[in-house]
Amino acid sequence: DFSKKAFYIRKQDISSRHRFFHRFSHKGDFGRVLFIGGAPGKLGALFLSSYAALRTGSGLVSCAPEFEDSIGIQVPYNEIMLYQVKSNTDLAEMDAIGIGSGWGNTIDPDYFLSIMIRFNKPMVIDADAINLLASNPFLLQKVPKNSILTPHVKEFERLVGKVANHAERIEKAISFAIKYEVILILKGAHTLIALPDGRQLFNSSGNQYMATAGSGDVLTGMITSFLGQGYTPENAAICGVFHHGLAGELASESKRRGMVASDIIEKIPTTFVELK
Ligand code: AMP
Ligand code: MG
Repeated sequence: DFSKKAFYIRKQDISSRHRFFHRFSHKGDFGRVLFIGGAPGKLGALFLSSYAALRTGSGLVSCAPEFEDSIGIQVPYNEIMLYQVKSNTDLAEMDAIGIGSGWGNTIDPDYFLSIMIRFNKPMVIDADAINLLASNPFLLQKVPKNSILTPHVKEFERLVGKVANHAERIEKAISFAIKYEVILILKGAHTLIALPDGRQLFNSSGNQYMATAGSGDVLTGMITSFLGQGYTPENAAICGVFHHGLAGELASESKRRGMVASDIIEKIPTTFVELK
């Protein structure tokens, strides 16, 4: 009986899930996170995720673009570092990894597998990384338990096949989360967070102006940031989804059509004032 396990996430449900940091906190306490993605032509997606993580409070943010030699790439934010995934064997030094933003569709599945094995902790999996899982089902078995997958409807259908209607989509999301022991975030209006124990949380924040390029990359950055700050995967998912929607609402107070993903990022800090 699914209905007994369905909940609506409201504003008053969030602050009790926040972690608090004290006067003597240092940047290491706020987590070191890494974003992997950004193939040629899609670097913007990677930078949006990375910058959103900084605005969500991460202490140290690195990104690894998918270029042969990425070390000379100009990152448009002074606060973000570049990272070489192929030459750094110790991914475990990262508190959280968000993978897939603008990663492109020419990634070797064995490379993704090696990242999952080397990191071996829950990670945030979005966009092209989801597409890679969808076309290589053996990879799905290897996804670290309690990882967070954030497909939009089309990406979700690549994972589970064509879906006739929204009710069927919700059912399939729930069974996917249970089967693979992951958190499945099905994005859209009233985003669904399907938890591995079968609970279903529907988000109340956000609006249609958030349907814009890069909006999902911002969400990936926020969830990864919370995970890296030591939130449980469940709380990282819930706080990420709710704060993202609220940031979108705040951004749309002064902009409606023509609001862009960077506008959402700029409002993230204010969401922490609102939800205190
Ligand atoms: P993506 O398609 O990956 O860029 O993700 C789009 C993001 O915008 C997701 O976080 C969605 O939940 C959000 N979004 C898109 N359309 C709406 C809507 N009509 N209402 C609320 N949020 C939306
Ligand atoms: Mg996306």
